[in-house]
Amino acid sequence: MRFAYLGSGSKGNALIVEAGDTRVLLDCGLPLVEVDARLARLGLMASDLTAIVVTHEHGDHIGGVAKLARRNKLPVWLTAGTRAAWKAAPDEWVRTLSPHRPITIGALEIVPYPVPHDAREPCQYVFGHASKRVGVLTDAGSVTPYMRESLTGLDALLLEFNHDRQMLLNGPYPAFLKSRVAGPKGHLSNAQAAELLGSLDISRLQHLVLTHLSETNNTPEHALAAASEVLGAQPDWLVCAHQDAGLDWRHVN
Ligand SMILES: [Zn+2]
Ligand SMILES: [Zn+2]
Repeated sequence: MRFAYLGSGSKGNALIVEAGDTRVLLDCGLPLVEVDARLARLGLMASDLTAIVVTHEHGDHIGGVAKLARRNKLPVWLTAGTRAAWKAAPDEWVRTLSPHRPITIGALEIVPYPVPHDAREPCQYVFGHASKRVGVLTDAGSVTPYMRESLTGLDALLLEFNHDRQMLLNGPYPAFLKSRVAGPKGHLSNAQAAELLGSLDISRLQHLVLTHLSETNNTPEHALAAASEVLGAQPDWLVCAHQDAGLDWRHVN
């Protein structure tokens, strides 16, 4: 099992998770031309994809999904709420899932879990293959006990470190946007993500990827420092995913 990011951040997210011949794209907030170029740098073409799974209807996650699904005839899995909120849904390709019930796509078992975020019915996912599990959490304003339960004991964790609270408060965003981002249905701050990390069983963790960093209200240095403090070190398996560069393949052994 392995994974890579095409991009991560408020200008567009897309993660690819692969097990055997199964390749699932989680979210696609990038234009087709970027999807093709960034897949190529990972040694893939869009025709190698099996399906698209979507977390929620915000443009940085769904902006490129309809065109990609139609062009490559890809099923798109999402909650009924996300579908209802998505005006441009390519209905013939949409498959709805329950945020409480796992789905199987090829060699991947995908376990959704609901998160608090200002979207209609947002959820995040844990990808499983054989005995290995890769968990994803972005776009959540707060952490529920069920989220902790879903993310404990993983082999890889791809976790939102969206903003440094002080940078957000002192930064250029208008007041309403600062409250939205910092609010209970906004995004995880470095401190919130670090607190969550500290509460999890991370004894099996092979990769910790810091994702969805704000380019305005955070720096990789701030995010890495917050995560390192919890780990007590800055191991080489702790990395940031970038907006444009994404993240090269990481293998889960
Ligand atoms: Zn987002
Ligand atoms: Zn969002």
